[in-house]
Amino acid sequence: MFTTDKNRLEDKIVTFSKFGATPGGGITRFEFSEANLQARAEFKKRMEAVGAEFKTDDFANMYATVKGSEDLPSIVMASHLDSVRNGGNYDGVLGVLTAMEVLESIVTQKIPHRHPITVMVWTNEEGSYYPPAMMSSGVICGKFDEAKMLASKNPEGKTFGEALKESGYQGQRENRLNPKDYKAMLELHIEQGPVLESRNMDIGVVEGVVGMVNYRIRTYGQSDHAGTTPMSHRKDALLAAASAIKYLHEQFDKLDSELVYTTGEIFCKPCVHTVIPNLVDFSLDARHKDPEVIKQVVEIIENMPKELDKCRVESELQWSRDTIEFDQELINFVEKNANEFGYPNMRIYSGAGHDAQFVSEMMPTTMIFVPSKDGHSHCEIEFTPLDQCWKGSNVLLNTVLDVDKK
Ligand SMILES: [Zn+2]
Repeated sequence: MFTTDKNRLEDKIVTFSKFGATPGGGITRFEFSEANLQARAEFKKRMEAVGAEFKTDDFANMYATVKGSEDLPSIVMASHLDSVRNGGNYDGVLGVLTAMEVLESIVTQKIPHRHPITVMVWTNEEGSYYPPAMMSSGVICGKFDEAKMLASKNPEGKTFGEALKESGYQGQRENRLNPKDYKAMLELHIEQGPVLESRNMDIGVVEGVVGMVNYRIRTYGQSDHAGTTPMSHRKDALLAAASAIKYLHEQFDKLDSELVYTTGEIFCKPCVHTVIPNLVDFSLDARHKDPEVIKQVVEIIENMPKELDKCRVESELQWSRDTIEFDQELINFVEKNANEFGYPNMRIYSGAGHDAQFVSEMMPTTMIFVPSKDGHSHCEIEFTPLDQCWKGSNVLLNTVLDVDKK
C-alpha cells in the first residue's frame, strides 16, 4: 500500500483556502472570478512543477497529465475549484487537492504506472454565477445544449461564453475528456451530509447518485383587500400552498425512511402585505435511490387534491433524473483499499449531483466520500479533519494504481 504526504496535502488545503477567502473562514470562488483565476494559476504552477503536461479544452476544463510507461488511455482524477457564495474549503477543491497530492506522490515516490495519470478540474460545477450546476460536464457528456450554456448570464448580464474567452483558459475542443483517450474517472468528494460522521466512518464507498424528481406546484386564489374581506369569503393561495406542503409531507412520510424531499423556493403573488395572495408557486425536490419509491412520490403528487382551501392546485414536472450506478469494479477497488488500510468504511449513495454522474455514462467512474463535520456543506463552516482528507487521498492513490494494473 502506498501513502500520500499528509503535510504536503495540508499545505495545499491551506494555500487554496486563500483564493477567495471570506471573513467567516470560507470562500467565494465563482467560476472565472479573480479568486478562481488565482486558484487555476496555482493548480497549473504546481502541476507543471511535478512534471505534468498542462492543457485545457474549449470549456476551460483543465488537464494535467503525467505520462505512463506504455501508450495507453489516461486514468483521470477530477473535481472542481469553483464554489457557491460563502462556501467552504472542501467542496470540490478537496477532490482536486487530493488528486494533485496523489499525482505528486506517484511522481516523487517513482511509483511505476503503465497508464498516463491526469488530474482534471471541471469548469463551473456549482454554476453559482453562471447557471446551471455541472455545466461543462453536462456539455461534454452531451446532456446540455452547448449554445444555451455559452449564453448563460450572470446577474450582471455577462454571458458565460464571454467570461470563458476572457479567462485565458479556453483551449481546444479536441482536448475534451473522451472515452478513447481516457480509461476511467475517479472523484473524491466530501459527503456533504451527516451519515459517515454519525457512524464513525472514514470513507464512503459511493455506489451511485440517487434519482430525483423536481416539480413546481401552484395554487390559484383570488386577490382581495386584507382588511375588508371576511375570512369566510377568501380564496387565499398561500394558505392553500401551506396545506399542500403539509399534505405532501404527511403522505411522503409514509414512504421509505431514506426518501428526502424539500420545498426550497416559493413565490407568492402579489406579495403585498395588504393583499390576499392570488398565486403561489413552489418547488418540490424529492430524491431516493430506488426508482419504485420515486414512482410512489410521483403518484402522490399527481393524485393530490386538485382543490385546497377553495383554491385550485396544479402540479407540473420540471425535470427528473434516474439513479446513476457507478462502475462495480471501481467501487470494489475503493472498498478493498479502504479495508486494507483498516479505515472504517460503508457503502453510500450520493444525494447531491456531481460531475462524475454525467461522466459515468461515458466511461467507468466512481467516487470516494470523506466525512463532513456535522454534515455541513455549501457554508463557511464546512470542514473535514485533515486525517480523513489524507485517508481519502490514500484510498484514491491505491485505487488509481489498481485501475492501472487492469
Ligand atoms: Zn462539489
